[in-house]
Amino acid sequence: MTAHVTAHVRITHPERALFATGFTKGDLVRYYRAVADVILPQLADRPVTRIRFPEGVGGARFFEKHTPTHAPEWLRRMPLSSNPGSTKPTKIVTYPFIDDVRGLEWMSNQSAIELHTPQWRVGPRGGIRNPDRLVIDLDPGEGAGLDECVAAARLIRARLAEDDLIAWPVTSGGKGLHLYAPLAGRRTSRAVHAYVGRIAKELAAAHPDALVAEVGKEKRMGRVFIDWSQNSAARSTATPYTMRGRATPLVAAPREWDELEPGITQLGPDDVLARLERDGDLMMRHGLTRG
Ligand code: ATP
Ligand code: MN
Repeated sequence: MTAHVTAHVRITHPERALFATGFTKGDLVRYYRAVADVILPQLADRPVTRIRFPEGVGGARFFEKHTPTHAPEWLRRMPLSSNPGSTKPTKIVTYPFIDDVRGLEWMSNQSAIELHTPQWRVGPRGGIRNPDRLVIDLDPGEGAGLDECVAAARLIRARLAEDDLIAWPVTSGGKGLHLYAPLAGRRTSRAVHAYVGRIAKELAAAHPDALVAEVGKEKRMGRVFIDWSQNSAARSTATPYTMRGRATPLVAAPREWDELEPGITQLGPDDVLARLERDGDLMMRHGLTRG
């Protein structure tokens, strides 16, 4: 790959390695450009929280919500409560929105490897809408891994199906797996959060050897923690197709149920791009992209 990157946004130091594998900032820009058609619909009208790694994944990381003052004027931004739906007074955060390839390029140039979003979008007049998906973050405890997350995901899938909710897996690009189910937008974040919490506790009680629904690392040994908290309007999740800032470049990758076999692994950018060529956008196929 060439060091020089032509773009709408001037890329500074495209040759800078962000990962020890040699994956550079220029490679990050190229990855986000290549997935623009499928990641932009995920980001559309959702405020974007970024995890920036100015010195690469080996250096300091910054979890950033505010739009920096030096951001270009074309970057859309909106002041929003940091804890929507709360009855207490909350902080106002001016969040950026990524509307186009240029926005992706600008974020990449900021070494914003990870893009995180809430489960809701803002409406045409700016208000926060009800969530259009629910999310369940499956985290393997010590002694457990992705195989255990897959087993947990199948239990949750069956439980959600009883309520006519159709869940789809996204391997996180980290240790575990995220499950998403499309919602019609009739329920508030608070209601969805409570519902998913109820299901998580119910499943953990029914499968105590496999699942945990409470916070606390020591309880997770050999089990999978069902984290339902990201349904809260104040929380966000690594957006599908985002790059992750872990040891090697891996992606939050939408998957099919029939490929979740024992021994399944997380996917990197090249895997994800090859799958997009072959299968198209699974988020679209799974009803998790705004039509
Ligand atoms: P894994 O499969 O390894 O668990 P993940 O994406 O589920 O990957 P994390 O990156 O640890 O796990 O994120 C878990 C949650 O914490 C997400 O909702 C994310 O937005 C949030 N989060 C991450 N970093 C911070 C931070 N510094 N402050 C607040 N929330 C954060
Ligand atoms: Mn997780």
